[in-house]
Formats: sequence, C-alpha cells, structure tokens
Amino acid sequence: MQISKDAAIKGIGAPEDEELALINRLTRRELTADEVYTFALRLCDNDIDRDFERFDDGALDRLAELFVGAPGVFDHQWSAHGQTARIYRAEAVSEAGMCTADGRPYRFLKGWAYMMRTEENAALIAEIDGGIKREVSVGCAVERVVCSICGEPMDQCPHEKGEEYDGQVCHGVLTGAADAYEWSFVAVPAQRKAGVIKSAGRRLEDEARLGRKYLKSLRREMVRLAGIAEPEARHGLLEQVAGKLDEEELLGLIKLYQGRADRLLSGGVQLSYGEQAVPQEIADGAFLI
Ligand SMILES: [Zn+2]
Repeated sequence: MQISKDAAIKGIGAPEDEELALINRLTRRELTADEVYTFALRLCDNDIDRDFERFDDGALDRLAELFVGAPGVFDHQWSAHGQTARIYRAEAVSEAGMCTADGRPYRFLKGWAYMMRTEENAALIAEIDGGIKREVSVGCAVERVVCSICGEPMDQCPHEKGEEYDGQVCHGVLTGAADAYEWSFVAVPAQRKAGVIKSAGRRLEDEARLGRKYLKSLRREMVRLAGIAEPEARHGLLEQVAGKLDEEELLGLIKLYQGRADRLLSGGVQLSYGEQAVPQEIADGAFLI
C-alpha cells in the first residue's frame, strides 16, 4: 500500500495561551506569545523503515513523554549560528485510513516545538513557514529489538531482517523506549523517509548479524563441498548437520571435503550437486585438450 504523508514540518506561528503555558514550563523566564515561534513536526512512526525496523506502539507512546524538552539541532548551515528549538509537547497520533507497509494502522509521533523569534532565527522561520523540504531525524534509545517473525531478541534468533519467511518480511521491532536525546532537521534525498537514529545495542546487533551471515556462508560452502565429496548424501540431511556445527567444525569439514572434492575432480569424475553444479570447464576438462 502506498503511503503519502504530509510534510514532516509545518509552521504554526505564535502559540495559543495553552500552548504558551506548556512552553513556559520549560523556560527560565516567562515568555510572551510574540517572543516565540511554534511549529509541528513528525518525529517518527510505527512503519517499517529502511533498516527494516519499526517502533512498537508502546515505544511510540513512551517516546511522546521522553521527547518533551528535547532540543532540536539543525544542519550546519543553521547550527553555525546557534539556532535551537525545543519540543514542548508530543503525542502519538493516528491518521485515519492510513496503514503501514505490513497493514497495521499507521501511527506517528507528532511533536510541537518552539524557538525564539530573533533576528538570527528569522531566515529559518521563513524557511519553515515556506514549507521546507528538509527531513526530521530523531535520536533515541530503545531497550530491545525483537524479531517480527518469532518474537525473540533479534540478535539471538535465526531470522534475518529484510528476508521473507512464509510471505512475511522479517523486521526488528523496537521495543521499550529508554531515552530521547535530540531531533534534527537534515537535508536528505527526497525519497528517504524521516530517519531514526537508534542506539541501544545497535553495534552489538550489527556484529551479531555479520557473525550470522559469516556462519551461513560457511554452512553453504560445507554443504556444497560435502555434496561433491559425498554424492550419495542427501542435501537436506547435509543442511541439517551443517546447521548444528560451529565455526571451527565447519572450517575443519570444509578443509576435509575440499581435499576430497579436489581429488575427485582431478580424477576426471564428473559430478554435480544441487544448484551448485560443478562448472562445465572443470568437469569436461579432460576433453578440452
Ligand atoms: Zn526470529
């Protein structure tokens, strides 16, 4: 389903009384409506993002509380002049009739921010009023990332984000919002959605993912070579066995089967196995001379 969203940022202008009261909870001195400029922005949502991750609804609701008071930063053109804005209100809202890529009701975290109406901010305010095309990105931390397929922690389960299982694309569900540090306006390519910078366990998760990819490739190689060396072995059985072996065992067997496969191939025996057929030029080598 195609989702078309409003611009990420929408200028409002001077705050109403209730809004001003919320702003003044965060300021050192009482501000008047004329002194501040307010705007609304879409901080993040519950749709699956380009990293194949999404927030669960509980995380969005918690982020609404955590984002109040969070500072906004602008890309270098602006930040050099010290422009800052702050979220004074946030709320998880739904948009009638809109669904996420996987068919759940679409919800997003809407934030209301204010900045001082100063000379330095005038050009930035004009840009926001003019409907700037910049994206909003948020920095926050979550407690865990769970697998959308099996519900286990993403770094401990056998599924890979972005891959399909029984017609379902696996993605990580960001659960348990822990902190919201900041948000920013960034210039990004138009087709990209508002970005989310997630920090909790991110590096560990990436490492675990790389480790799983490496093990997968070892397993594939072992099955391929074992298929050549032991042509009578069933492919399914080899895959099952390979799935239970660790790195050291896999490397040992790859070495063993590689030796056998080499001897068999150099003996001129034509072999093929599964999808990984022995290349013709090797198998037919004897006849090419
Ligand atoms: Zn899983």
